[in-house]
Amino acid sequence: MTNRDTIAEPAGQVPIVRRADLVVVGGGPAGIAAAVAGARSGLSVTLLERYAYLGGLASGGMVLVLDDMCNGPEISVRGLCSEMVERMERIGLCVVPPESERRSDEALWRKWSRWGVFDFHSHVKPQPICYAAAFDPDGFKRASNSMVGEAKVDLRLHSWFSRAIVEDGSITGVVCETKSGRQAIMGKIVVDATGDLDVAASAGAPFSHGSYIVTTVFRLGGVDAAAAERFEYEEPGAFRAIDREAKKIIGGSWDKWWLKTPLPGIVWCNCPHMTGLDGIDIEDLTSADFQGRERIAALLAYVREKLPGFEDAFVVDVAPQIGVRQTRLLDGVYVMTKDDVMGRRHFPDSVARGRDYYTPYRALLPRDVGRLLVAGRHYSATPSAQRSSREIPPCMAMGEAAGVAAALALEAQVAVDKIDVARLQARLRAQGADPGDRPAANAQITIAAE
Ligand SMILES: Cc1cc2nc3c(=O)[nH]c(=O)nc-3n(C[C@H](O)[C@H](O)[C@H](O)COP(=O)(O)OP(=O)(O)OC[C@H]3O[C@@H](n4cnc5c(N)ncnc54)[C@H](O)[C@@H]3O)c2cc1C
Repeated sequence: MTNRDTIAEPAGQVPIVRRADLVVVGGGPAGIAAAVAGARSGLSVTLLERYAYLGGLASGGMVLVLDDMCNGPEISVRGLCSEMVERMERIGLCVVPPESERRSDEALWRKWSRWGVFDFHSHVKPQPICYAAAFDPDGFKRASNSMVGEAKVDLRLHSWFSRAIVEDGSITGVVCETKSGRQAIMGKIVVDATGDLDVAASAGAPFSHGSYIVTTVFRLGGVDAAAAERFEYEEPGAFRAIDREAKKIIGGSWDKWWLKTPLPGIVWCNCPHMTGLDGIDIEDLTSADFQGRERIAALLAYVREKLPGFEDAFVVDVAPQIGVRQTRLLDGVYVMTKDDVMGRRHFPDSVARGRDYYTPYRALLPRDVGRLLVAGRHYSATPSAQRSSREIPPCMAMGEAAGVAAALALEAQVAVDKIDVARLQARLRAQGADPGDRPAANAQITIAAE
């Protein structure tokens, strides 16, 4: 059979299992924030997630540092993201450097850099310790469950979105594949928070196809992190040689290939990175799992033999979700460029911030499909812009904005692209978020009309 062979699917009836004001598809950072924000604004919300847990890449992908949420000393992403940090701190599963230790300093670098809580965009050496949070994946799931549960979001796990229902140019619901068969969930407004733009693409919204490195993140246990850090700082020459070889074996990593987690003896490894793989191609995803595990086994054998502190290390787990950073990107009403992100361009309709950049509401709005918003890593941006503006906190900020925007649209009985953005900004600010309506001192202000 060639790839061009097809079969005809029989037409059939799909039961409607829910009707909600707002349907959010994807229970990752953006989707959780959208659902909670919508429910707290008084909407009935159904949140759909394909897997058995909430959190997306922040739990199933074991991406274990919340970063890109400060602009120097200013905390630029607040709202539901701050609440997530506080909730995880309360259960002892999140570590944040205290304010008094957030600066560039050799001793603080030694104390904090293996937590990954430094400003990796800074050119200052050592890079400043900053407001960032190292957390545990189960902590993210538990905090998400409590936020979603308390907000009375109707959560449906094990629900794999397969098709958008579109009538007269507007989305009216979605179809999910489940163990009980196909199910339809109808909504007055839908937020696509799948990360891969599954819903908007199915609904016919224009998009581009980006790609970036793919990573099989894993955790090692049995690590004596204190011994490893002593070796790093007290025998820098020997450390560098072993570290270089370890990185060669894993074949693609950032400078610090292992970072501490709140669990003693357990480190997370944001590697191996692999290129040339498409994050929505199941053959590529299958191959990523095999390639990744082979490289992890080779690395483990090497570090157990050579790296002080790792003598008794073992693999705790390889993340159940392959680390896909970028696939489809919305080609929306406004497309963020790399210059917008790196130039810290301020937009009058900014509704979310990342570290020092601003996201306009128009970048959450698809063209050609009504009643639909997007939030998260598939937002409307060029591939190069998205690479440096896709961290968990800004995705949560976009989600929070989308959830409140849906409420405003339904309250005012207007289309999502006709809401009063000033009211959205005011509401976000009133609930503790920073929509970016007040540009920071280092923002680039363009006076010209958008
Ligand atoms: C390896 C790696 C390292 C990273 N490092 C960092 C870091 O250190 N710090 C940081 O802040 N960010 C980091 N990022 C980026 C960050 O993890 C993501 O950009 C962020 O999680 C995106 O959030 P999201 O909600 O948009 O998407 P996702 O986290 O991808 O969540 C999407 C959710 O939708 C669900 N979903 C998808 N398709 C369907 C469907 N068809 N039906 C139902 N549900 C569906 C998924 O299961 C998932 O729960 C990293 C990313 C990767 C891959």
